[in-house]
Amino acid sequence: MTPLTRKIRRLIEAAGPMSVADYMALCLFDPEDGYYTTREPFGRAGDFTTAPEISQMFGELVAVWLYSAWQACGAPEGAVVAEIGPGRGTLMQDMLRTFARLDRRFAPRVAMVEASPRLAALQKETLAHAPVRADWYERPEDLPDGPLFIVGNELFDALPIRQYVKTAAGWRERAVGIGADGALCLMAGAGAPDPALLPPGARDAPNGAVFEHAPAREALMDVLCERLAREKGAGLFVDYGYEGPALGDTLQAVRRHGYDDVLSHPGEADLTAHVDFAALAATARAHRLSAPLTTQGKFLLELGLLERAGRLGAGRSAKEQERIRGEVERLAGPEAMGELFKVLAVLPTGISVPPFRSAD
Ligand code: SAH
Repeated sequence: MTPLTRKIRRLIEAAGPMSVADYMALCLFDPEDGYYTTREPFGRAGDFTTAPEISQMFGELVAVWLYSAWQACGAPEGAVVAEIGPGRGTLMQDMLRTFARLDRRFAPRVAMVEASPRLAALQKETLAHAPVRADWYERPEDLPDGPLFIVGNELFDALPIRQYVKTAAGWRERAVGIGADGALCLMAGAGAPDPALLPPGARDAPNGAVFEHAPAREALMDVLCERLAREKGAGLFVDYGYEGPALGDTLQAVRRHGYDDVLSHPGEADLTAHVDFAALAATARAHRLSAPLTTQGKFLLELGLLERAGRLGAGRSAKEQERIRGEVERLAGPEAMGELFKVLAVLPTGISVPPFRSAD
């Protein structure tokens, strides 16, 4: 039992079962015992490895895309380059190095949006010797004015989702309660979903079927798109996901590079859920922005991943070249992250930035 298990049990004993969304929010962001607030989740010693932690080439190619988006928007003055949910700060570190090489006239303000004070401190260490100074903000609403070019990698999968489960009495919100054995358990709660949210096939789904809805994700996307629509700019969001709405339980816990039961180690395991990119794109389109989607594999390969890998490996030892080939495979291979991870661009309508086509 983790310290957070005790806290969650006390909350349930006092107020009844809590929604999956409230459980997820506590697990990830409880100020004393939350995963992102207290842990060092990334890298080999942590619980999982993200694309920027796999290879510098990821950040380099994202930098090329953001720079191209800035140019496609007319190379506006006073631009702000931002990252939301920067983890260890590795992606921004790789991007800043790349910007300095691409074009010395490109001198945007650099902003980091991080909800966890502990991770913000870690990011400051990572960027301590960066060629440009960055500023930190807790919320995207606090970002400085100006055309915004923003990236988020594995941000949306870390936001709390609501789950609904089909029961004999119809769809009910899923909740975390305390079972007969005294352990935390998933159960059907009292709330019912808005019928308009139900995906196709919901009516005939078998008992026990699950569907997910992520109002917190849509709310964050709404804030970002409102800003992008108001002042010119572009967004790029990379995550493990699908184009919904769809049935399926995607809530998962990862601890020390392996799957864990979602209720076993609150605060000590990463909790994520797959991202419904159709829902995010709909939010962008509601702001009259275009929202083309591709896979991480296509995105990186079309931006020149193989050429970059070739240049990076030139003149290096066979072992180094093998490592770089392995990184390409992990980032873009269809069996690795290439197909499962998707890249959503958010652009002003009429502006296209390769590899996304304008008609998307
Ligand atoms: N982008 C990093 C880290 C991904 S983990 C990487 O690819 O390695 C998710 C990150 O999002 C963490 O830094 C977490 O603290 C942050 N985060 C989660 N919710 C957030 C929110 N609402 N606003 C800003 N950052 C958030």
